[in-house]
Amino acid sequence: MAQDTWRNWAGTHSSTPHRFDTPRTVAELSALVARATELGLHVKAVGAGHSFTGAAVTDGVLVSLDNIAGIESVRTTPEGPVATVLAGTRLRSLNEQLWSRGLAMINLGDIDVQSIAGALSTGTHGTGARFGGLATLIRGLQIVLADGSVVDCSETENPDLYQAARIGLGALGIISKLDLAVQPAYAMRAVEGPARLDETLDGLEHDLANVDHFEFYWFPHTNRVLTKRNTRLPGDTPLRPLGRARGFVDDELMSNTLFEGINRLTTTFPGAIPQINQLSARALSAREFTDRSYRVFASPRRVRFREMEYAVPQAAVKDVLRDIGSWLDRSGCRIAFPVEVRFAPADDVWLSTANGRDSAYVAVHQYHRRDHREYFAAVEAIARAVDGRPHWGKMHGRAAADLRPTYARFDDFCAVRDKYDPARTFDNDYLRTVLA
Ligand SMILES: Cc1cc2nc3c(=O)[nH]c(=O)nc-3n(C[C@H](O)[C@H](O)[C@H](O)COP(=O)(O)OP(=O)(O)OC[C@H]3O[C@@H](n4cnc5c(N)ncnc54)[C@H](O)[C@@H]3O)c2cc1C
Repeated sequence: MAQDTWRNWAGTHSSTPHRFDTPRTVAELSALVARATELGLHVKAVGAGHSFTGAAVTDGVLVSLDNIAGIESVRTTPEGPVATVLAGTRLRSLNEQLWSRGLAMINLGDIDVQSIAGALSTGTHGTGARFGGLATLIRGLQIVLADGSVVDCSETENPDLYQAARIGLGALGIISKLDLAVQPAYAMRAVEGPARLDETLDGLEHDLANVDHFEFYWFPHTNRVLTKRNTRLPGDTPLRPLGRARGFVDDELMSNTLFEGINRLTTTFPGAIPQINQLSARALSAREFTDRSYRVFASPRRVRFREMEYAVPQAAVKDVLRDIGSWLDRSGCRIAFPVEVRFAPADDVWLSTANGRDSAYVAVHQYHRRDHREYFAAVEAIARAVDGRPHWGKMHGRAAADLRPTYARFDDFCAVRDKYDPARTFDNDYLRTVLA
């Protein structure tokens, strides 16, 4: 590839790497990594560039695995089906390929454009009190290390590398393929509608216990939310997808085109945001549909924004939202973007934001033409006060010294990094900040 400038989706980071590479095979990938290490160049894999942080930035060799993509095989295990997936596979393509084999991802986030390895590397998650982030679905990994060696790891083979690399931040090597627990294809019923924030918080424990995938969007400066309740159904359930017209009006017109217009307007007239948020929250009518699971999980995001997301202990989420509301009242800061609130159970992945505790995710957004700094800093302070952990792929102001105390296995992760990448082939500014 010719030298060029690379930019992430949010426009928060760009770089001019020494070179781009798009290997077609794992052997080519291994040779280019070994060569770069010999030459003292840094190497970074990039997926869809959908991290808001500089996680994929490099001054060295930027490697796209777009040509190392697809499902290699599926095997049956006592635990259920396990798919071996090449690391560059985009989630949308993975979902379609799985479905054509009668299979589906067990959980997903709210977009499907990421590469599977990119999504896993920063701890991408969805929502649901019983459904962990994507890294909890990994059963094995193949990684190209700095010297070009291609190493398999799992719970029983190179277990230290496996435990660290399940959410590896791109710091240990380049994942070339992975084994993922999947399940028979299933449908999902979505029930969405406007509600009051106070009532939603009062009913939170009930929803978490009874709804497979529960989330809500709170409209700042109001007591209004949009709730989403997704229920898993057998794969042969008759589908009742959104009609084309309704899908267009809701997802394209309201969520993208009209929302872009609102953001442009409120960039000029931020004082109008509280009234506009009231109107927007009320304009959202209830809807219900049933579709293939992966189509319900993901929706298009065309309005460009900046995002910070904090995982906080589930029990603290009501206080965190109340504190954000109080700060907005006091500060005069006006925010048009809804605050997204999602959930995940405790897991054992070393650098998972849900490690060791049931978690709620509080995501704040700001339109890309408006300044996000004051808002994000205030929310970060609120989340830190309850030992919040920032999403590794979303904006935050944290560094190794204050991240270490919140992750019991932080030093173990760093020791694995020292062992497998002593010369720091996979280093970049982001890793120097968060891992030191
Ligand atoms: C609109 C939008 C919606 C989002 N929704 C969600 C959501 O619902 N839930 C959620 O948790 N997050 C969400 N995110 C964040 C996103 O899932 C993560 O930032 C994810 O890492 C992006 O995947 P990517 O393929 O773009 O990876 P990139 O951003 O390109 O890379 C991320 C990291 O992975 C590393 N990497 C990439 N490929 C490999 C590889 N083969 N081996 C080793 N390391 C590798 C990169 O070097 C980098 O460090 C969203 C982001 C956006 C912009």
